[in-house]
Amino acid sequence: MAEDRPGEGPYRTDPLTGEIAYVVAKRQARPNLPSVGCPFCPGGLEAPQPYDVKWFTNRWPAMPDGRTEVVLYTSDHDATFASLGATGARRVVDLWAERTLELGARDDVSYVLIFENKGPEVGATIAHPHGQIYAFDVVPPRARAELERGDASAFGPDAPGAGSERLVSEHGEWRSWVPWAASWPYELLLAPRNPEPDLPSLDGPHRDDLAATLVDSLARLDSLFDAPMPYMLWFHQRPTDGRHWPSAWLHAHVAPLYRAGGTPRFVAAGELGSDVYFNPIDPDDAAAALREACP
Ligand SMILES: [Zn+2]
Ligand SMILES: [Zn+2]
Repeated sequence: MAEDRPGEGPYRTDPLTGEIAYVVAKRQARPNLPSVGCPFCPGGLEAPQPYDVKWFTNRWPAMPDGRTEVVLYTSDHDATFASLGATGARRVVDLWAERTLELGARDDVSYVLIFENKGPEVGATIAHPHGQIYAFDVVPPRARAELERGDASAFGPDAPGAGSERLVSEHGEWRSWVPWAASWPYELLLAPRNPEPDLPSLDGPHRDDLAATLVDSLARLDSLFDAPMPYMLWFHQRPTDGRHWPSAWLHAHVAPLYRAGGTPRFVAAGELGSDVYFNPIDPDDAAAALREACP
């Protein structure tokens, strides 16, 4: 655990708050933008051969030992996750599951975090559709806190909003909804109706359901203000540290940036200073707008 690594390692625990920072100073050297062409397009630096989906170890790793990866969703530079369609998105889901299995099997990996930063507004330095993976050697605090809270009512059939006025999209086993206590405007939670601990556990049909729900939900975000919605997306799944985690319930969080067309929602001092988020959009209204937004 991070608490076992005071001082020397990259993990630093703040004595005031107990929060953990991971210091990777040399990452500052990474380029903001590639100098020539797109490195993710076929023939580019990271993708010399044609491909449908592809992963590789991040050249500018936030963590050592090949524990950070880049996942390319498609060879089409101008696509988005939403435009991949059910078939294209299913390929990505399969690759996420494969990477979770392979990274999670390593002795030095306790948690596989799959995520995406979409849009330059949230720091995506390359436009080509892609996501990332951090394979932590600890169970990170946010994931651990959810697991220890272990409230199955967050996701189950009676999850607040999942079957009601805050439901946004539903494809077979998977649903997306605006959480009751959303801290971001238009925030979404995606989860299967019944517990599935992690991506590798999903069978074929349930992977299709996840793919369809993701495509549909992200397309709605783009339709909402008639412009591509910058967002942060991450999956929470069962840790791979070999311990028993009965409360693990695979789900995805989506934190979209805009609260109105072209207007970012900033996390401000009153929020950082209090750890209480002030959401200017009523979650019921957010869900209604997203249901009406044509994917
Ligand atoms: Zn490209
Ligand atoms: Zn979560």
